[in-house]
Amino acid sequence: MAKKPAGGKKRQTGKFGFSTACIHTGQEPDPSTGAIVVPIFATSTYVQEEVGKNKGYEYARVSNPTRTQLEINLAALESASSAHVFASGMAAVTAVTQCFLKQGDHLICGHNVYGGVPRYFNQVMANYGVEFSYVDTSDLDAVKKAMRRNTRIVWIETPTNPLMVLTDISEVSRIAHAGGAEVVVDNTFMSPYFQRPIEFGADMVMHSTTKFLNGHSDGLGGMIAATKPIHAEKLAFMQKTSGAILSPFECWLVLRGVKSLAVRMEKHDENGRAVADFLRNHPKVKQVLYPGFSDHPQHALAKRQMSGFGSMITFETGSFKNAKKMLAKVRVCSLAESLGGVETLISHPATMTHAALGEKGRKEIGLTDGMVRISVGIEDVEDLLADLDQALAAI
Ligand SMILES: *Cc1c(COP(=O)(O)O)cnc(C)c1O
Repeated sequence: MAKKPAGGKKRQTGKFGFSTACIHTGQEPDPSTGAIVVPIFATSTYVQEEVGKNKGYEYARVSNPTRTQLEINLAALESASSAHVFASGMAAVTAVTQCFLKQGDHLICGHNVYGGVPRYFNQVMANYGVEFSYVDTSDLDAVKKAMRRNTRIVWIETPTNPLMVLTDISEVSRIAHAGGAEVVVDNTFMSPYFQRPIEFGADMVMHSTTKFLNGHSDGLGGMIAATKPIHAEKLAFMQKTSGAILSPFECWLVLRGVKSLAVRMEKHDENGRAVADFLRNHPKVKQVLYPGFSDHPQHALAKRQMSGFGSMITFETGSFKNAKKMLAKVRVCSLAESLGGVETLISHPATMTHAALGEKGRKEIGLTDGMVRISVGIEDVEDLLADLDQALAAI
């Protein structure tokens, strides 16, 4: 493994198609043994030949070959010039804010993003004198109005969880750049297979690799892909300095998971369409939020900036009682938080992922107690439809 450590990586040329890049970019055979799979380098340190002479690796918090290969792979998939991985999605959020915000700076955040993000902003970063505004980033005028002289970052998630509201990445990037700010997109829901924000002008992309990138619900992880050398330099510095890095084993799990990203996403998308149609035609379901429907208010934008619709769907059962009844009956779908795994996960946002928002906060974004969110997996779709049908019969 003679690859340069994180921070000094060469830009990926994108000479491969996406599926080939998933399997081969950064995933070259091990030069010392020919092992076709990138080994798990379970080591904390590296023996040096003489003082000041090493093979590019000194200490595993700073860099590890398994991690380097994963970072090369993910940078290529996001059309980025670098990627840095962290111990969880939230550790990646922490790193990016620590790198690019200081006292007196301002960040604009979507008002309906992953709950852990505003929790960290308000309950941790605000104590260090960083200012936050929350706006509906699907409303470009609202973003424009929220821009201040000290705005450094505009943080968006598109589509949002669980309401599936889209934000126009290129327009928000234009507004942010005009005001001297950078755009970070949480791309966890779509994965780079369906959406590559950097190609639309975003400066950085964040992922919880816990979700579709790993894809098998067996490890936490986070990533920041970036576009400028200064980003890479600061993020590598933060890995070394804060130390919330992804372990070699977890890196290996993502390297393994990502090889099948393209086929998994195709199947997620196909099953997602079938489940969305089924729910829409079901008499017990009042509403289905899914950007793949031609009458979704932002369907045109979805087609412009995404190449598929993914497998995240939210539907309205009418009441908390109904949601509870149906969720008690699912057998193939698993009642659980998280998303993006090969198995179908179903959840109740109001009491699970979005409980911390409080009733008032949920009302503000339009999240009701009857809403159910489903992350459609890659099982046989007939089994999923039959399971949902028998569960909905309980209402
Ligand atoms: C899960 C998730 C996160 C947080 O990631 P962890 O790996 O759980 O720390 C951030 N954003 C989105 C959209 C997520 O789904």
